[in-house]
Amino acid sequence: MSLAQKLMDRVETYAAQMVEAQEKLVAVPALGPDNGGQGELAKALLVEDWLRELGLAIERVDAPDHRVESGLRPNLVARLQGGPGPARWALSHLDVVPTGPLEQWTSDPWRLRVEGDKLYGRGVLDNHGGLLASFFGLKALLEEGVAPAGAAGLVMVSDEETGSQYGLDHVLKARPDLIGPQDLVVIPDAGEDDGLFIEVAEKSILWLKVEVLGKQVHGSTPQDGVNALYAAARMMVAVREMYGRFSQSDPVFAPPVSTFEPTRKDAGVSNINTIPGKDVFYVDCRVLPEIDLARVEAAFAERFQEIAGQEGAQVRISAEQRLQAPPATPADAPVVRALAQAIQTVKGEPAKPGGVGGGTVAAYFRKRGLPAAVWCTWPHTAHMPDEWCSLRNLLDDAKVFALLFAGV
Ligand SMILES: [Zn+2]
Repeated sequence: MSLAQKLMDRVETYAAQMVEAQEKLVAVPALGPDNGGQGELAKALLVEDWLRELGLAIERVDAPDHRVESGLRPNLVARLQGGPGPARWALSHLDVVPTGPLEQWTSDPWRLRVEGDKLYGRGVLDNHGGLLASFFGLKALLEEGVAPAGAAGLVMVSDEETGSQYGLDHVLKARPDLIGPQDLVVIPDAGEDDGLFIEVAEKSILWLKVEVLGKQVHGSTPQDGVNALYAAARMMVAVREMYGRFSQSDPVFAPPVSTFEPTRKDAGVSNINTIPGKDVFYVDCRVLPEIDLARVEAAFAERFQEIAGQEGAQVRISAEQRLQAPPATPADAPVVRALAQAIQTVKGEPAKPGGVGGGTVAAYFRKRGLPAAVWCTWPHTAHMPDEWCSLRNLLDDAKVFALLFAGV
């Protein structure tokens, strides 16, 4: 029997243990203080016990945070020595998001409910799925007596859902030597429901607030005022001109181009017979990483000023969010190739690397020159009421991690 088959068979025996682990994890709500919780320490201690039972070398890279009773946000690093190959890392997170209104849940979100292949509860997918898949993948190597191809590491961080300042960002700043540019970093915290999508790139995000100021007058005398709504409407129409000004295309993304869309609009005057003197709207731009966001902002300013000038209005533009995406992980980077090979073995189908329109924690690695890939089987139930994950997916994802760690 091949080594890969031995590891996959071993993982297959973990089904009951995975359900039991989910039961324990779901019962410890790990909410950060920004979400009204006491942080992740109780959950970290639970997981630390499991890591210790496996015989892994454990290091805590905690971040101080006086807002929680324990005064700290735990970050776990667990390592196993391996062969001469590059180190392989799986990064998952301990914290979860709040439940939202309880009446939208079929059962208690903090108590695991099992229905056939589906496990329900807050955090079962995001991110217990990734945490357990990587944990049980490594466990399979240990129980089969297989040495990892390179050092194997599990990093389990706090604060992923509320900014990563006390989590991944802290770990990478406190231990800049921990992970090197040759290492393979996989983040099992997003993907597609067939488990074949490997995220290697993200677009930059620019959210603009546009305040248009005119002069408010009675609806019967528009000639005495400046209609801010009319000027804003012209600007909203002009937003899509940016598709032509920044028309570069990159097939790694879907859609392959940068996008520029007016989205939110604040309420203006509440009555019909007033010419509005102020109007506020917002623009959501998702921009290919190679385009400098400063150029996009300058293009909007120029065009909106032009319209404002024509209308006798004034315009103020500010960025509500400005995240310049780091360079992409190459679609043929070693981590992508190793991951794709393991996925092919487990699922019998080729994986496809691609980009996404939103930010992921992979950016923390990529901006430090560490090529990271985001992957797992992801049924898009994260943050929702009745969040669920599939036990079948969990087993298959653990097999992928076992093969990745073993380098087969
Ligand atoms: Zn997550």
